[in-house]
Amino acid sequence: MIEFQNVKKRYESKKQTVEALKGIDLIVEKGDIFGVVGYSGAGKSTLIRLVNLLERPSEGEILVNGKALTSLKPKDLRAEKKKIGMIFQHFNLLNSKTVFDNVAMPLILSGTPVKEIQTRVNELLEFVGLLGKAKNYPEQLSGGQKQRIGIARALATNPSILLCDEATSALDPQTTSAVLQLLKKVNQEYNITILLITHEMSVIREICNKVAVMEGGRIVEQGPVFDVFAKP
Ligand code: ADP
Ligand code: ADP
Repeated sequence: MIEFQNVKKRYESKKQTVEALKGIDLIVEKGDIFGVVGYSGAGKSTLIRLVNLLERPSEGEILVNGKALTSLKPKDLRAEKKKIGMIFQHFNLLNSKTVFDNVAMPLILSGTPVKEIQTRVNELLEFVGLLGKAKNYPEQLSGGQKQRIGIARALATNPSILLCDEATSALDPQTTSAVLQLLKKVNQEYNITILLITHEMSVIREICNKVAVMEGGRIVEQGPVFDVFAKP
């Protein structure tokens, strides 16, 4: 599903070179809820931005659904991007648009017929439990509700993979739990593979089946959550 083969990433500027990833090997299998945990600066955001095609690796290869990302042509890259949804720590909703329009945005951008957009957005809002908020604006919602909208938007184009970048870090513990349970439902009911990054071990324990622990641009441990955490 997602495979990193000896991936290195350097950020180069005139002043200095930062080696953010120093040789990452990672396999996320279909159906996994795979968590990457580590302190700030470990390289987690870089790793997720490489999957989402926001960054290019300096060395190595990343395979998504069996395709090598570095060898794809621009047209195929766009098609691949649609198969990957993403949610963010600060939700990244458009404040000037209604909840409905926020969720519809990826469908509007990909030229989906209006009727189809109506049906799909209503179905997604129902799935995340916020059909009643369709006409509201993001600032009228709580943090947990905003992230539910973020999830609905990420699912709009029917992706096979959902990337989560510190998706619950801005939420209180109770809301965090509710959003994590919704992610579990996304994984089970839509059969979507989830790759999430977090600095919180509790998030990993609550929903992940596999974990990679990152430190200084390397994975220092990787495996089923039970095995990794069972070690003394
Ligand atoms: P994390 O998400 O675990 O906090 P990051 O991937 O953001 O880690 O960062 C890993 C390292 O790469 C850090 O030293 C960070 O300062 C550096 N870094 C991240 N993005 C950039 C960038 N665009 N330019 C230069 N350095 C960067
Ligand atoms: P996050 O809170 O998700 O870890 P970061 O603070 O690491 O986000 O990064 C926010 C943005 O700043 C990213 O686009 C990243 O590329 C950039 N960035 C991070 N560290 C550096 C750095 N040392 N130099 C330049 N840009 C950086």
